[in-house]
Amino acid sequence: MPEGRVIRAYSNFCDVMVSGRVHRCTLRGKLRRQDVEVLTGDLVVVEIAADGTGTVREVLPRRSELYRPPIANVDTAIVVFTLKEPPVNFPLVDRLTVLAGRAGLDVVLCLNKADLCDPAEVEPVTRMYEKASYPMVVTSARTGEGLDRLKSFMEGRISVLAGQSGVGKSSLLNVLVPGWTRPTGEVSRKLQRGRHTTKWVELLEMPAGGFVADTPGFSRLELEGVDPASLAQDFPEMRDFAGKCRFPDCLHRCEPDCAVKAAVEAGDIPEGRYRSYLELLREAEEFHQRRYIR
Ligand code: GDP
Ligand code: ZN
Repeated sequence: MPEGRVIRAYSNFCDVMVSGRVHRCTLRGKLRRQDVEVLTGDLVVVEIAADGTGTVREVLPRRSELYRPPIANVDTAIVVFTLKEPPVNFPLVDRLTVLAGRAGLDVVLCLNKADLCDPAEVEPVTRMYEKASYPMVVTSARTGEGLDRLKSFMEGRISVLAGQSGVGKSSLLNVLVPGWTRPTGEVSRKLQRGRHTTKWVELLEMPAGGFVADTPGFSRLELEGVDPASLAQDFPEMRDFAGKCRFPDCLHRCEPDCAVKAAVEAGDIPEGRYRSYLELLREAEEFHQRRYIR
């Protein structure tokens, strides 16, 4: 029986792509009785009937699972941001890298609207994220700059775009997946109405292979459940220093003999990233206190 990729999951059926063809499939009774949930992105074993419809026999183990929107097996989060229109908000960008890392995804940063900025403004940002070893691609959905490099990170993988509103996620999707346009008008209204029951998120096939979700990832940005004491581990360039502080429970804020602060002063941890860390730390602490301290 062939394996296929679920490109759209609804409550009681799903569309599965098998060797480039899409088959509408229902779940076999045993899976339904076990309350097995099929998500967009799932790899499934299907049995295809003569009329082209199919039955999902098995849902294969997931590599990752996002909740809002619900997508299984995403490999890469493309964190899109701009320096201008809208102005960059680094704590927001870094919050997305933390959430993506926690979800087990690879992070690729995409600085879009390059046509609006000077290379001299881009350079310090590139240097900042180099320390975290996140690849960064500088793109313009308008001029096409950087799109081939961006595609090379998405080939053969499942990606999701994330980033604040207005940075150009839809525009990038339009050029990455030619022929795709966001459903508008009547179709869109129907989908909106059904949003809570149909979990509508679709995987779009990219011409060079691989899929990208049509809906931005991480619509919930709260750091709920992130233990403040471990937040430094979500910043790859801080990890090595975080274990070398005098106090094992150091939060790297104002404690004495803090290896992280020393590394910031020495220029080994970029200041901008440390500022994001402090802001996210405050947020994680607020959640933590609300939950554990009354
Ligand atoms: P989204 O909210 O992240 O999906 O952003 P959109 O794709 O809707 O883009 C927001 C606005 O930015 C639109 O007016 C786009 O035309 C514009 N835009 C998107 N990409 C670029 C770009 O690379 N350069 C410039 N100058 N404008 C862009
Ligand atoms: Zn410390």
